[in-house]
Amino acid sequence: MSRVAYVNGRYLPHAQAKVHIEDRGYQFADGVYEVCEVREGRLVDERRHLERLDRSLAEIGMQRPMSPAALRVVLRETLRRNRVHDGLLYLQVTRGVAPRDHGFPPPGTRPSIVVTAKSTDRAKADALAEAGVAVMTVPENRWERVDIKTVALLPNVLARQAARAKGAREAWFVDKDGFVTEGSSSNAWIVTADGAIVTRPATPGILKGITRTVALEVAAKQGLRVEERPFSVAEALKAREAFLTAATQIVMPVVRIDGQQIGDGRPGPVAQALRAHFHESAEVGL
Ligand code: PMP
Repeated sequence: MSRVAYVNGRYLPHAQAKVHIEDRGYQFADGVYEVCEVREGRLVDERRHLERLDRSLAEIGMQRPMSPAALRVVLRETLRRNRVHDGLLYLQVTRGVAPRDHGFPPPGTRPSIVVTAKSTDRAKADALAEAGVAVMTVPENRWERVDIKTVALLPNVLARQAARAKGAREAWFVDKDGFVTEGSSSNAWIVTADGAIVTRPATPGILKGITRTVALEVAAKQGLRVEERPFSVAEALKAREAFLTAATQIVMPVVRIDGQQIGDGRPGPVAQALRAHFHESAEVGL
């Protein structure tokens, strides 16, 4: 089936969906984005994703590209035209097209907006979660405003590729004090030997993942003990379990860090329970 993308007011065949060479997203990575899970044709946690989009836009001094109501229509129409049952929705807003100049473009420059959607294989993702994934640590080398979900992802790209080259699926950034910040596109978690779930607080230093927020709710409902505090790589290597969260992965067990087995080398019960019950706490739209 042919894919369709929404680009600045038009639904176009994916192959013909283009933005101008002077789009500030292309020139300066001057834009923000969101990725939402689609499950059974519905957007998961749309409200929270759109709230975070608003926050990201405000933090970089940009107006909304359209009203939230209009945006919700575009998101649904993009899903419909792509016939996505299970998959992902991608939404990107940049500061628009203008002659190249670092300062903001003239007032009235229209933001560019792109929305795409694709189907993913849920069974394959579940199979991966049953095996667990490997993670490699890399030095944190990003700017301080990683709480903004910007398309400026070069450090994340390089970290992910370095991990991939070593056979790991995700890279975990480690700050100068030896504490894990987050993954290249996910939040990082461990379960300590005495059963506490640990994840870094969502102060600047990480992106406040929507999946992270919901997973904390799931943990609370299950009566699990959660400590929002930084954890070191040394602590992670001794942990009973490790896992990561992202809209694209839900809760994904981590079974190796830097080549060392975590726990018994198999996905742990806490990660599995959070994954199994995640969608009971997530908001599923119409
Ligand atoms: N951290 C980073 C750097 C990310 O790119 C992502 C994925 N967008 C996350 C965390 C997880 O966020 P979410 O749960 O909202 O997908």
